Amino acid sequence: MTHETWGQVRGELLKSVGENNFSAWIDPIVFDRLDARTARFHVPTNFFSSWVSQNYGDVILRHLISAGVGVDRVEFAVDNGLPRRAGNSNVAPAQPVETPVARPAATLRTGTDELPGATLNPLYTFDNFIVGKPNELAHAAARRVAEGRDVTFNPLFLYGGVGLGKTHLMHAIAWDLRARFPGARILYLSAEQFMYRFVRALREQDTMTFKQIFRSVDVLMVDDVQFIAGKTSTQEEFFHTFNALVEEGKQIIISGDRAPVDMEELDARIASRLQCGLVVDLHPTDYELRLGVLQHKAEQAMARNPQIRMAEGVLEFMALRISTNIRVVEGALIRLFAFADLVRREITVDLVQDCLADILKSTDRRVTLDQIIKTCCEYYKIRQNDITGTSRARAVARPRQMAMYLSKSLTSRSYPEIARKLGGRDHTTVLYGVRKIEELMAIDSQIAEDAEILRRMLEA
Ligand code: ADP
Ligand code: MG
Repeated sequence: MTHETWGQVRGELLKSVGENNFSAWIDPIVFDRLDARTARFHVPTNFFSSWVSQNYGDVILRHLISAGVGVDRVEFAVDNGLPRRAGNSNVAPAQPVETPVARPAATLRTGTDELPGATLNPLYTFDNFIVGKPNELAHAAARRVAEGRDVTFNPLFLYGGVGLGKTHLMHAIAWDLRARFPGARILYLSAEQFMYRFVRALREQDTMTFKQIFRSVDVLMVDDVQFIAGKTSTQEEFFHTFNALVEEGKQIIISGDRAPVDMEELDARIASRLQCGLVVDLHPTDYELRLGVLQHKAEQAMARNPQIRMAEGVLEFMALRISTNIRVVEGALIRLFAFADLVRREITVDLVQDCLADILKSTDRRVTLDQIIKTCCEYYKIRQNDITGTSRARAVARPRQMAMYLSKSLTSRSYPEIARKLGGRDHTTVLYGVRKIEELMAIDSQIAEDAEILRRMLEA
């Protein structure tokens, strides 16, 4: 392994652990050398060493393996402070710290080393995949295929909008299959990479090798197939590869941004072949799934960064307000944590509003208080006079609180303004109403669902 390889692995690590963790824990690590299948690194302190080895050893190891480095262990030793020239591995001996990281699975090295596949993200595993209504079918199908028993769904076609977990699920399948069948030739790549390799093979007049490689795999996974739609010769080659593999009973897994029938430029023969297997879609996220992902990621981030504190209701607020894809949700959380760490403040809804103003704004459709009132009345089947009145009867008080909550989270109106519209005595009534709904959302899925449906109605 060279320093250059480490440079590339660092790039991958940045993507998978996020900027905040990267700058805190990965950036300070200096690659020393590789010997006896052990990658040795220098770190600044003993504490750092044990922390990194416990929290990131595994991820670093997996990334190294993914990059093709022949390595079984990683070791972090304290640099004893002697001057070191950049890029020079001939440093004074470091104090070894006993922090061996167990090799995650001997099976990570597979017969696929020489295959031209893409790197698998070590964090895209089934363990890290949150299952909810919108993705449960896709998840179940992926799990089934990952068992690798008999090829019943061939191909498995996963489709859905951007950032909904297609790539994550594909990597998870690949990791699982690799662990179960160490010798299997599993090839994962994007349709774009497939095309580039094919074009290169054509240019180099070496399509034989290309064909041999692609037809010798046990499992072929092609991500974002929409990319080759309309690219005639690549599609043709893909079609032949596809048929050859299907005939041999090899598993094929493909993802796309739309259903095969909706890809206009896709060769009709390919579309109908894709249609023959199992076609499942990942639906747009709902409130619960977003909250689940946020909780999972926040838990991990807080375990790594225990001094960070978070007020109640923050994740619920984010799940409600950030209604786009999971990548955006995840990015928002990473930024939030970095910001909180920087300013050393508890994460509150106010902080979220400060720090994520741009993201929140882009999902803000400028909903008005009148629209909220009207929509809530329709939804709960109550009269406008009731919701804007002062009656405390539960049947109108709860919808009113919901309207307060939606007003606070979907508009930038102040508490007194909302109070005036919604029969509140003063801002404390609204404050209380908003809190009440936030509390209820966490324990009562009906209320959470009401909030989600109402938000969608208002943002539609
Ligand atoms: P797609 O390929 O559909 O565009 P990705 O698989 O790249 O989407 O997912 C985008 C990001 O969201 C990734 O970081 C992924 O880990 C995360 N993600 C998507 N779905 C889930 C899920 N159900 N649970 C946890 N993380 C998810
Ligand atoms: Mg993808």
